Amino acid sequence: MLFNDLGLDARILQSLTEEGYEAPTPIQAQAIPHALSGRDLLGIAQTGTGKTAAFGLPLLHRLAQAKGRPPRGGCRALILSPTRELASQIADSLKAYGRHLGLSVAVVFGGVPHGPQRRALSAGIDILVATPGRLQDHLDQGTARLDRVETLVLDEADQMLDKGFWPAIRRILPVLPKPRHTMFFSATMPTEVAKLAGEILVDPARVEVTPVATTAERVEQKLIFVEQGRKRGVLAGLLKDGAVTRALVFARTKHGADRVVKNLEADGIAANAIHGNKSQGQRERALADFKTGRAPVLVATDIAARGIDVDGVSHVIQHDMPDTPEAYVHRIGRTARAGASGIAIALCAPDEREKLWQVEKLIRTELKSDDQRQDVGIAMRRTPGRPDAVKPAKGASRGGGRGQQQNRGRPQPGPAREGQRHPQQARERGPAGAAPRGAAPSAPRGGDAPVRRPAAAGGQKDRAWRDADFRDGGNAPAFLRRS
Ligand code: AMP
Repeated sequence: MLFNDLGLDARILQSLTEEGYEAPTPIQAQAIPHALSGRDLLGIAQTGTGKTAAFGLPLLHRLAQAKGRPPRGGCRALILSPTRELASQIADSLKAYGRHLGLSVAVVFGGVPHGPQRRALSAGIDILVATPGRLQDHLDQGTARLDRVETLVLDEADQMLDKGFWPAIRRILPVLPKPRHTMFFSATMPTEVAKLAGEILVDPARVEVTPVATTAERVEQKLIFVEQGRKRGVLAGLLKDGAVTRALVFARTKHGADRVVKNLEADGIAANAIHGNKSQGQRERALADFKTGRAPVLVATDIAARGIDVDGVSHVIQHDMPDTPEAYVHRIGRTARAGASGIAIALCAPDEREKLWQVEKLIRTELKSDDQRQDVGIAMRRTPGRPDAVKPAKGASRGGGRGQQQNRGRPQPGPAREGQRHPQQARERGPAGAAPRGAAPSAPRGGDAPVRRPAAAGGQKDRAWRDADFRDGGNAPAFLRRS
């Protein structure tokens, strides 16, 4: 299917060509025909699927066709978004897609002065993108009115719920006129979200793309076992490689993100942090530096990273394993966006193995690692009968013994964990025991669910890890490229 087949305004088609979009993504192909006809929409999709254009293109088309004028102090279309970054990105996308339509777009979010927003609102706006808290402030102060809204989009409803925006949304909704055109998007459908969707949508078309646990098929996922104290050197080594053009690094806490940036800078790598303690100006500068390549490494916490929409993230590196396995999937989804491919590398310390286990259970895939990687201080072989028994690294201290203690209570691995290979795999790995990159991973735990089996690659690049790859922050070329 092509955009031309969807019946969109020719001026929108022109912008899409200018943007370099060739064909609609699956969520766009499903959603656009319904939304163009004015039908309510329930979209189950996360960022990276092209959902902004899925609701944005029909919204622009319908506003352009209706030729109405925005009311003073109000807007014709309202898009509610859970974060300021996402709100800004939605507005930027709509400005780009609608650049030949002459419609006005404005953003309203917290953390910045009210004045300019008040002035923008008072003139009247075709499309208003807002976070619920600040919009409610404007309503309370009488500086915004919503009685002429023709179209409402509620984006990332599950995040709205998580971020405590439910009361604000519950206050905004009754102010909106009926009937209206409503599009509702959420990556997941917890009961409360489904309930709200049921209340505000009228006979919606339901459109859905790949559920969370099977997304990011195009992301090549890798794992490095490394002691906490050696993560700094490993990370610097990875980031200094030329294969890394734009890397998003995840830290578990704001403080941790700042520390990672400080260390990277000390190691000669330009990086910025983005998290909740940063001002709006700092966030915008960090994002701009990331996009232009001035600082091609962005260290983020999970919440701050939500909604960051930057194409061409070549690597996602998880400096810390995430608190929830779902966050792992969200993190790796920041690369391989819009049809591109990417590499995700997780650094896992001995005390993070329980988190790794949870991730592998969720994604139903055993992450690829290499038994030979004793360079990073620890080798956490999962040997038969001794799950995760720690083998001291060559030349490294025996400190790894801790790992066994820490792993008490961890569920027993399934029949074919790493280090417990199928005969076929043992043959493929050769005498050194090094798994060829791209070799079929061990069978998954957890039964009959499908497992992604990377195509066999073979060849010289399938080499084992060596100390030298990381010790001096040196190169780890094969690992950073796709197999
Ligand atoms: P979204 O899920 O809306 O955050 O979009 C993810 C990324 O995909 C954004 O960078 C969009 O610019 C890009 N994108 C959206 N639709 C298409 C398309 N049909 N073709 C190519 N890129 C797209």
